[in-house]
Amino acid sequence: MRVAEIYESIQGEGFLTGTPSVFLRASGCNLRCGYCDTPYASWEPEGDDLSVEEIVDQVLQRDVRHVVVTGGEPMLFAELIPLCRELVTQGRHVTIETAGTLMLPVPCQLMSISPKLSNSDPGPQADARWRRRHQKNRFAPAVMRRLVNEYPYQVKFVVDRPEDLEEVDRYLADFPEISRDRVMIMPQGTEPVSLALTGTWLQPYCRQHGFRYCPRMQVEWFGGVTRGT
Ligand code: SF4
Repeated sequence: MRVAEIYESIQGEGFLTGTPSVFLRASGCNLRCGYCDTPYASWEPEGDDLSVEEIVDQVLQRDVRHVVVTGGEPMLFAELIPLCRELVTQGRHVTIETAGTLMLPVPCQLMSISPKLSNSDPGPQADARWRRRHQKNRFAPAVMRRLVNEYPYQVKFVVDRPEDLEEVDRYLADFPEISRDRVMIMPQGTEPVSLALTGTWLQPYCRQHGFRYCPRMQVEWFGGVTRGT
């Protein structure tokens, strides 16, 4: 499995915000979001191919209970199954970060799903084949259903403009099995100023509609999205 980075930090989003964790970033993605903040694991994947044993060894060297397996899209890699099985066996709490378009029967304690709305489009400058592929693959309802039915989960939507909220509503209308108190809405952006600006209308909306507002604390703590944070 190709790995872009393994590092220790603190979870900045979701139910486990503030939890010290080891982050394992798989390199490679089936999507190409225009706002992707880890292009080195999607648009231009970097990193070495490591065996399951090598990865487990590097993770277990750290005396940290929580492990976040992120990407890229980690569900692209079948090695994730034995990898997560071993981490769970070794007493680690495993969170998988996925866009919810691919399914693997991975053992984990939390499935953290970030469905991609139309605002994730790669943009006009992107290769036309990737734009088509992204559009075709970003919504996989059967996979989404399995993930929320088979795992403890959280669902995080990335919102850029007020119009995106109508799309969130339409999305959730298709999934009555998704519990609203597990839905988080997160402002798009990697700069504290733009996140704060979006928060001025998004936070009141979340309060009024029973969603959790999900700040991106890693941007506040580390001043932006940088590798190793
Ligand atoms: S799914 Fe995630 S890693 Fe893949 S392109 Fe989109 S934001 Fe980047």
